[in-house]
Amino acid sequence: MVYNCIKQLQRRLYPARCLLCGAGGEEGLDLCQACRRELPHNLHPCPRCALPLPLGAPAIRSCGACRLHPPPFDRCFTPLLYQPPLDLLVGGLKFHGKLAYGRLLTELMAEYLEPMLKHGVPELIVPVPLHPTRLRSRGYNQALELAHPLGRHLGIPIAPFICRRQRNTAPQVKQAMEGRHSNIQGAFQVVGRIQARHVALVDDVVTTGATVAELARTLKRAGVERVDVWAVARTPSG
Ligand SMILES: [Zn+2]
Ligand SMILES: [Zn+2]
Repeated sequence: MVYNCIKQLQRRLYPARCLLCGAGGEEGLDLCQACRRELPHNLHPCPRCALPLPLGAPAIRSCGACRLHPPPFDRCFTPLLYQPPLDLLVGGLKFHGKLAYGRLLTELMAEYLEPMLKHGVPELIVPVPLHPTRLRSRGYNQALELAHPLGRHLGIPIAPFICRRQRNTAPQVKQAMEGRHSNIQGAFQVVGRIQARHVALVDDVVTTGATVAELARTLKRAGVERVDVWAVARTPSG
C-alpha cells in the first residue's frame, strides 16, 4: 500500500519515458505502447521449463525434454523470450549497472506473475546467488535487483543469503552443451535451515536451465517441496 503510494508520487514527479525509444511511457511503465507491443512475449511456453512450444501444441503438456527428463524444479515462468530488445535491457542491467532497466523488467515480471500465483504462492523468494568473486567485480547481483522489488510488489519475503555459490563456474554461454551440467554440479550450498516448503527462484534469463536446476536440486535436498523458477526471459532453444 505504502509502496504503491510512493510509486504513484514518483510517477507524478518523474513522468515515465520509454527506455527503448525515448517516447512518453505508458501509464506507470518506462515503456511506450509501440515498444511494448513489439516485445517478444513467451506466448506458448512449456508449463514445466517455459521453453516456447510450437503453436498448436497442447498448452497443458510439457515439452518432450521435460517428459523424458523432468527437471528438479516444478514450474518455470518467464514472460518474455531472450531476443532483441531483451538482450539490450537484460545486458544493460547485468553488465552496465542500468538499474532503471531492472525496474522495468521487474514490472513486466510482476504483471505476468500475479495471475500465475493462482497455481500456488511461494513462501519465499531466493535470488540465484553470484559467487563472491563475481559479486565483487560486478558490484551487485542482477537477480537480487529483480527479486527485491518483486518481493515487495507481491508481498513475498526474499532470502538473499539462504544459498551460497561456493564455486565460481565459468559463464554458461562459453560452455559446450555437454560440459554445462557437470560445470554447475555442487555449485550451491544452503546456509542454515530453510523453513519454506514452496520457494521461487529468481534469475534474469533461463538459458539451458542448468543453473536453476542445480539450485532447485540443492533446495529440495534441504527439504523444500516445491521450487518454481521466475525469470525475465527464456532463450528460445535450450
Ligand atoms: Zn518506445
Ligand atoms: Zn519443458
